[in-house]
Amino acid sequence: MSAQEPLLEVSGLDVFYGRGSARKQAIFDATFSIAPGEVVGLIGETGSGKSTLARTILGLIKPDNGVIRFEGADLATLGHRQRQLFRRSGAVQYVFQDPLRSLDPDFTLEESIAEPLLSSGAHSRAEVATKVREYFRQVRLDEGLLSRLPGQVSGGQRQRAAIARALISEPRLLILDEPVSALDSANRVQILELLQNLASPSVSLLFISHDLGSVAGITDRVVVLYRGRIVEIDTTDAIVNDPIHPYTQLLVGSAPILGSGPSDRAWRDDIRSRLGAD
Ligand code: ADP
Repeated sequence: MSAQEPLLEVSGLDVFYGRGSARKQAIFDATFSIAPGEVVGLIGETGSGKSTLARTILGLIKPDNGVIRFEGADLATLGHRQRQLFRRSGAVQYVFQDPLRSLDPDFTLEESIAEPLLSSGAHSRAEVATKVREYFRQVRLDEGLLSRLPGQVSGGQRQRAAIARALISEPRLLILDEPVSALDSANRVQILELLQNLASPSVSLLFISHDLGSVAGITDRVVVLYRGRIVEIDTTDAIVNDPIHPYTQLLVGSAPILGSGPSDRAWRDDIRSRLGAD
């Protein structure tokens, strides 16, 4: 794959739930792409279809129409078994808002992070132990916490551990579903900074949120979803400073940090510079 080709290309995607008279369309003709190393925000209110779109990309839902090309292969046409194999490959990983959904409460953080590698059976115990420590350091967790249970660390530390668990499979796409909305503001900034630094030519991020303000500091582009339809896709700057669709205008207007007043702009620039953005 050349660096110019998208990592993920979604085109004409329709997803329905239910059958017969209960059949209801959740995603309408969705088309967007993610480049290698890009950080993309998927923004929309509750019920707009963000999780459905993410679950379809993960291979958990088979779309009714459309193409999902991941590194050139069309996931939408894979059979059940092939989709299972794709999921197990770990190429796309998901981080939940609540890290307890990724971490077994009875596993130590070390065991939880090691588990994907141990399950794949491709690594010796010594290799796994080394890798767990490498990813623990990458998410800036102290090795002293390796033997703790999720219930014995803070919410921010739990989310870091969940991110390490997702990263250890070396995904090419990391989907983060409201990863900071359950955290206090200090932890939010730190985890956003961590996530921003994770993006590299080999890992792209899809950042799901109902709140444009919480992701605008780290995304390159934003996809706006409204009632199952993508209504606007643009660079974050264009979305924030010159939104075209009325729903995007509403989102920008209702995000306190994105108002157009000079102090808000200064605040945003400050956040961006603290996050290392251009
Ligand atoms: P979001 O993640 O943006 O909150 P969802 O993808 O969860 O939105 O939901 C999109 C739409 O699909 C909503 O109308 C929701 O009620 C519906 N929906 C989601 N999951 C199911 C399901 N398993 N069965 C039927 N309808 C569903």
